[in-house]
Order: sequence, then C-alpha cells, then structure tokens
Amino acid sequence: MHHYPDSMPKSREMYERARKVMPGGNTRTTVFIDPFPIYADRGEGCHIWDIDGNVYYDCINNFTAMIHGYGHPDVTAAVVSQMPHGTAFGAPTESELDLAELLVERLPSVEQVRFANSGTEGVMMAIKAARAFTGRPKIVKIEGAYHGSYDFAEVSLDSSPANWGDMPASTAYAKGTPAGVLNDVIAVPFNDTEALRAVFDAHGKTIAGVLIDPMPNRAGLIPAQKNYLGAMVKIAHSAGSLVIFDEVISLRLGYSGAQGLWGIEPDLTALGKIIGGGFPVGAVGGRAEVMAVFDPTRGKPALPHAGTFTANPVTMRAGLAAMRALTPASFEHLDSIGALLRKGITNSLARHGLNGQCVGLGSLFKVHFTALPITDYRSVYPGASERKKLNLFHKGLLDRGVLSASYGLFALSTPMIENDAREILSAVDGALAAI
Ligand code: PLP
Repeated sequence: MHHYPDSMPKSREMYERARKVMPGGNTRTTVFIDPFPIYADRGEGCHIWDIDGNVYYDCINNFTAMIHGYGHPDVTAAVVSQMPHGTAFGAPTESELDLAELLVERLPSVEQVRFANSGTEGVMMAIKAARAFTGRPKIVKIEGAYHGSYDFAEVSLDSSPANWGDMPASTAYAKGTPAGVLNDVIAVPFNDTEALRAVFDAHGKTIAGVLIDPMPNRAGLIPAQKNYLGAMVKIAHSAGSLVIFDEVISLRLGYSGAQGLWGIEPDLTALGKIIGGGFPVGAVGGRAEVMAVFDPTRGKPALPHAGTFTANPVTMRAGLAAMRALTPASFEHLDSIGALLRKGITNSLARHGLNGQCVGLGSLFKVHFTALPITDYRSVYPGASERKKLNLFHKGLLDRGVLSASYGLFALSTPMIENDAREILSAVDGALAAI
C-alpha cells in the first residue's frame, strides 16, 4: 500500500517548487489533485512510477491518449529513426501523407485530412470548416460535453444546478469566454431527439453544424443511441447543416472509431490523442467536398490553417507506428479487458452495498456513485455525497497502486493483460470497501 499523500514526499516538494512559477503549481488544471499532484518519473507498458518510487497501474494513460501505454517498441523506433533527420520543417513531409492515408483508409466518412497540434484545434478547425462550408454561424453541442478549450466548444462546461435554467434557452460558459459566443452556440441535452428537433425547427437556417462526441465523458460516458445519431444526421442534413463527430477520445473504441461501431457517417470528424503516438496532435477529416474549404487551389480564399508544428514528422511517424500497431485484434483485447473490469466493478459496488454504476464501452469506463438512471450531463452532475465518494475512491485507488482520473474516468492500454485487470479489480474492491 502507498499512503497518499504521505508516501509522496518528493512530489510534495516538487509541487511546492512548482507553485512559485506556475499558477496552481502546474500547467494543466486537469492534473491537479488536492493537496498536490503525483509527479511522474517514468512509464513502462501499463505502469508508471512516481518520483518517490511508487508504482501504479496507469488507468489515465494521459487522459486516454496513450493507448499502448509506455515504450511501445515500434513507436520508440519510429521516433528514434526520425530524430537525426530533423524534427520539424517549413515544408510537408511524406510522414503526414502516410498518416493521412491510414486515417482515410480506416474511417469510412473521412476522404481528406488536415492535421493540427491538439484535439482542441481539431475541433476548432471542424467548427470553422462547417461555418465556411455552410456560410452559417451557429453550432449545436451537447450540454456539458468537453471538446477542448476553444471558446465555442466550451459553452455549457460551467453548467450547474445554480445556472442551468431551461434547456436550451440558457447555457453557461467558461470564465474568460466572451458572452458573444453564446449567440452562436446552442446546448442541447444528450440523446434527446425531440430537443434537437425543436432547436432545428427554431434555428435551422442559421446552424452550421451539430458537434457531438458519441460517448461524451463529461456527460456521463454513456454511448449515444444509434437512432439518436441517425436522427441527428437526418435533422441536420434536411436543414442544410453538418454533423461533426468529436472522436478525439472515441477513436479508441474501435478500428474505425465510434463511427464504425455505430455505423454513422458524419460530415466532419475531429481527431487527436491516440493518432499522435504520444506526441501533441489533432486533426480534422471529412468529406472532400467539405474539406475543400481548406484548399488553396480552388480560387476562393481558403479557410486559413497553419500551425508551426503542425504535421511535424516526429508526431506523424509516432502516430503512424501507434495506429499501425492498433489492429482489430487489439480492439478485441481492449474490449475483453474492459468488459472484465466493468463487470468486476459492478459486482464490487453491489458487494459493498454502494449505490453506483460502472458505465462505458471498450477500453473506457467510469464509475458513478448513483443508482439513478444515467441519461445526460444533468443526471450525472454529482451532489456533495457523490463528490465525497468519488474523492475517497480516487485516493483509495492511489493508495492501492492504481492511477485514475480524479473525476472517475478510466482508460486502458493494450499492454494490460487479464492478470493486470484482476489486480486492478482487487484494488478497486479495496478502495470501494474503504468508502
Ligand atoms: N475533445 C474531446 C472529446 C476531448 O476529450 C479532448 C481532451 O480531453 C479534446 C477534444 C481536446 O483535446 P486536446 O486536449 O488535445 O486539446
């Protein structure tokens, strides 16, 4: 057993140092845990070690990006072989072509791709492309769903019982976002076809596109219903609007992403995380007719798109190696480890008499400490007692050598085998027993 925070004196010291030069002691709010985050030293396979020498099963995997865990030999070899030849050029390289071809081959809806440096940028470019293509301003998004830190995509992230009012008329927005953004974003509840239809009836002619993550983590990590997505495509298209899938996370659900699993073809897809093999990355892909808005050879002014490190060959080579190593068999493996964990956690919750559910698909799952039906963001908005349980669960897992996201998300990696899943389950059982 580790004992957070007492077994982590070096992390505590590092955090004290970091607080002086970084607000909150770090550069990503998401990695903060109270009283201080655990500093990573190194990773190998599905494990990471902190700077105090404590070892953990990594069930965050850099917020789902590290689908192969750490030190995959093909990814390492790809990066090492690129390094002596240069890491970024003001010119295209074959590496971006190779990765674009792989994505086009895997994703049925994607005919052309443009790369970026983060999922945030991938979403931003998708939104801009939808606007440029339709000549319309508004975006519809799912309340509470996270799509990175582009102003328009952040709308409703601050949604809480104190401010949510009647959907979809009133939506909150993140601090620092200009209020004008609210004119062009409409938040709707997840999996609610009638609410979507009502929004299109009222605003259809001004809507450029609907942005949806088919299994939105912050809206509960429950899958979109197939008939909801099917209706979404019909409703949007009949109004002349586009459907944008945010597959920054959900690409890790299957060989052809969530769109392959659901059998839905969006007009545009935002990508990130796993396609960079552990390096910063983002992308937007979609129908060639829509992607043409970026094409400078078509006469009209193209949608501006740059980025000094966009499509740098280290990221592209790492991403290509990581994606090639993700075969249909990898997804079968991840699905079976995920199913084992979801079942085991569900049993543990019942064994300890806790009101709770383990939801998700494939290599992703989340624990909610509520027995009420999970339908959307509002249904999983945690009350004080759930927050307390989530916090105890997260810390109980740290003590037992499992690193998960503080808000209850777990993301698995391909090096995990059944025995690892059993050890994670035993830690989960111990942490739940201690709540
Ligand atoms: N979209 C989704 C669904 C995400 O989960 C994230 C990040 O967690 C993003 C977009 C933004 O990606 P990035 O953090 O690479 O900017």
